[in-house]
Amino acid sequence: ATTARRSLRIGLVPADGIGREVIPAAKKALEAVGSDIPKLEFHDLLAGFELFTRTGTALPDETIRILREESDCALFGAVSSPSRKVAGYSSPIVALRKELDLYANIRPVKSVGANPGGKPVDLVVVRENTECLYVKQETIVPSETGREARATRLITERASRRIGKMAFEIALQRARKQVTIIHKSNVLSVTDGLFRETIRAVPRLPEVGGKYDNVRLEEQIVDSAVYRLFREPEIYDVMVAPNLYGDILSDAAAALVGSLGLVPSINAGEHFVMGEPVHGSAPDIEGKGIANPLAAIRSAALMLRHLGYQKGGDRIDAAVNQVIEEGEVLTPDLGGRSSTDEVVEAVLKKI
Ligand code: ATP
Ligand code: MG
Repeated sequence: ATTARRSLRIGLVPADGIGREVIPAAKKALEAVGSDIPKLEFHDLLAGFELFTRTGTALPDETIRILREESDCALFGAVSSPSRKVAGYSSPIVALRKELDLYANIRPVKSVGANPGGKPVDLVVVRENTECLYVKQETIVPSETGREARATRLITERASRRIGKMAFEIALQRARKQVTIIHKSNVLSVTDGLFRETIRAVPRLPEVGGKYDNVRLEEQIVDSAVYRLFREPEIYDVMVAPNLYGDILSDAAAALVGSLGLVPSINAGEHFVMGEPVHGSAPDIEGKGIANPLAAIRSAALMLRHLGYQKGGDRIDAAVNQVIEEGEVLTPDLGGRSSTDEVVEAVLKKI
């Protein structure tokens, strides 16, 4: 639901590596659709591994405070992950998802024009972002036959229900209106069983009031879902999955449409949404001015649509798709020879 806002306050957290090259690009795209959205107010915010190595803090309290109290949404760039465990460091993006209760990771994967990866793809992976094996309760103990490691997998009705509602809500806005629950309840009948049953029950919840009656509900075992995703991606619309399966599925789906530099995502909660390109900090191309800005720009569009500004989001996406289809101004990851700035200019011109 859209609440009328007089201004839209956006926290910008470029963080590390090419995050600092693509977030300014996304900002320009937002400014270019100004007439379709409320007045924009930007906050430049610090976070990241580089900040940690300089100051000992990866996520300053001030950044969290401004996001919580003075922002409606945010755009996050990327964090570089240290190759070894660094004492005192933990990922700021993981912390932000927790601090802002961004329980859903939403990743639309859509091919433009003739898909270099094969068949046309147009689906959304909705990944539960707070529990499953990612509660990180791991123990290791010696046993007579060697060490024994265990991990806890948490699935709650509350988290399953809210991610289920999010998936139905997204399906409602799409032409196909289909939700596929991804699970492995033939083996994990208790945990995945609860996830599956809870989401199956969502359309009948009293507070839903029949709103999802026209959404088709399907389900699929995760292994066969991956197989079919590669063979016949067209059967999927909205896929909803627990954290670990969702993590794997969303990268697999991204591979179907080519470069990482194209795939956007948002992290969403009840009160906040944060756009984030799917790619990392790409240290191999950092500072060369050739990072593909389209994933970040599309993340900004996705964020706008999630906030109810359909028109602004659609205009940005249409411009990005035109630039891709024309194929004249593209960064090297897409086989082109243009710079980040040239691609941004091309998108702005289309807008
Ligand atoms: P991180 O640890 O931050 O994830 P990484 O080395 O895994 O860093 P990724 O950002 O995940 O790097 O990228 C993997 C590969 O894809 C790299 O070769 C990178 O250059 C390329 N890549 C990622 N994003 C982009 C982009 N926006 N434009 C061009 N190439 C990209
Ligand atoms: Mg990576």
